[in-house]
Amino acid sequence: MAAPARPDLLQRLAVETAEREHAGLLRRLRTVAHVDGPWLDVAGRRLLAFCSNDYLGLAQHPALIGALTRAAHQQGVGSTSAHLICGHRAEHAALEEALAAWTGRARALLFSTGYMANLGVLQALLAPGDICMQDKLNHACLLDGAKLGGAELKRYPHADVDAAARQMRSRPGAAALLATDGVFSMDGDVAPLPELAALCTSEGACLMVDDAHGLGVLGTHGAGSLDAAALGQHEVPILMATLGKALGCSGAFVAGPASLVDGLIQFARPYIYTTAMPPALAAAALVAVRLAQTEAWRRERLAMLITRFRRGASELGLPLLASTSAIQPLRLGSAEAAMKAMRNLQQQGLLVTAIRPPTVPAGQARLRITLSAAHQETHVDRLLAALETLRLPAQAS
Ligand SMILES: *Cc1c(COP(=O)(O)O)cnc(C)c1O
Repeated sequence: MAAPARPDLLQRLAVETAEREHAGLLRRLRTVAHVDGPWLDVAGRRLLAFCSNDYLGLAQHPALIGALTRAAHQQGVGSTSAHLICGHRAEHAALEEALAAWTGRARALLFSTGYMANLGVLQALLAPGDICMQDKLNHACLLDGAKLGGAELKRYPHADVDAAARQMRSRPGAAALLATDGVFSMDGDVAPLPELAALCTSEGACLMVDDAHGLGVLGTHGAGSLDAAALGQHEVPILMATLGKALGCSGAFVAGPASLVDGLIQFARPYIYTTAMPPALAAAALVAVRLAQTEAWRRERLAMLITRFRRGASELGLPLLASTSAIQPLRLGSAEAAMKAMRNLQQQGLLVTAIRPPTVPAGQARLRITLSAAHQETHVDRLLAALETLRLPAQAS
C-alpha cells in the first residue's frame, strides 16, 4: 500500500513566503558594508541611520575594541564549549559580578543572547498548570519562553494593570509569573512597574522585567528602569537585560537572588546546551558597563537629543507616541504608508526602518526612530527637515 501523501514542508513555506510578499509584508535583509558611528554604507550609499540600538554610542568605542582585541590575543576567539564544561572564563565571572553590583542584585548569569535568556528563565521556572501573564506588547521572545515552559499564557492589554490583576485572580491556586518589558521595544514607553510590583506582591506572583532598552539609559548610573522606579530584588526577583543595546556589545544576563541563578544553571536548557559567549566579548562588555556607569554625559546628551526631536516633531504635527525614551516611533497606520515614508527618507540619505505587522498590530505600522548619543544635534535637525517634506498625517488611522 502506498504511503499517504504528505504536505511538502518546504513547499508550504514557499507558499507562505509568497503570500507575505503578495501582502507587501516581505522582510528583506540589507547588507551594511561599513559603519562609522551613525553613518552606514549600504548599497554604495552613505546613509545617516536612526535605527540602531546603540543608545550610548559605545559600539565603536576604542576602549571596547581595545579590551576585545587584548582578550582575544590572550584567550582566543571562541570559548570552546558551554559554560558548564570549560567555556566559563575569568572574563565571564568578572562581568557577572559587575552586572549584579550595577543592578543591585545578588547574582547575575550570562546568556549568549537576550532571546535565549528569556527562553531559559521562562522554561526553567514555568510548568504546565502554571499561569503566565504578559503585556500584549512584550517582546516576542518572552511570549516564546512562556510557550516553551508550557504554562497557560494570558496577554493583557498594553500597560493595563487591572486587566493583569483579573487574569491573575482567575486562577487563584496556580503558580503565577508576570513578565513585562521595562521599556517597550516598539513603543518606547515605560511599563507601570511600581503598580505591577504591588500587584505581584499582593497576589504572591513572581515579577520578571526585561530591561533590554532601559539598562544603560534609565536610572542613576544607568542601572535601568528598575533602579529608576526604586524597585529592588525583593519586589522584582527576575531582571533580564541585554548587552547588545545601550552597551554596544552582544549577549545578555539574568540577575536576581542566588536561588534563581543557581536554579538556572541546573535547569535552563538555553543556558546549559550552548557555547558560552566569546570571553573577549565579555571583556569588552565589562568596559562598556564601566563607561555606562561613569560617563553620565552620554545619557545627558541622549536626553537632550530626545527633547530636541520631540519638540521639533510636535511643532511639525507629527504622530508622536507618548515615549520619553530613545525609541521615538511615528505611527503611520498602514504598512504601505510606513514603507513609502521609509523609501522617501532613504532617497534623502536617511535610514529609518519601517516596522510592520506581524511585529506590531495590524494598522499600527510605524517608523521606528531611535536616537543615540552618537548623533549630533544637526543630525536630528536633518531628520526633522526630511520628515517635514513627507507631509505625514498628524493622526494615524
Ligand atoms: C532585543 C531584545 C531582546 C533580545 O535580545 P538579543 O540579545 O538581541 O537576543 C529581548 N527583549 C527585548 C525587549 C529586546 O528588545
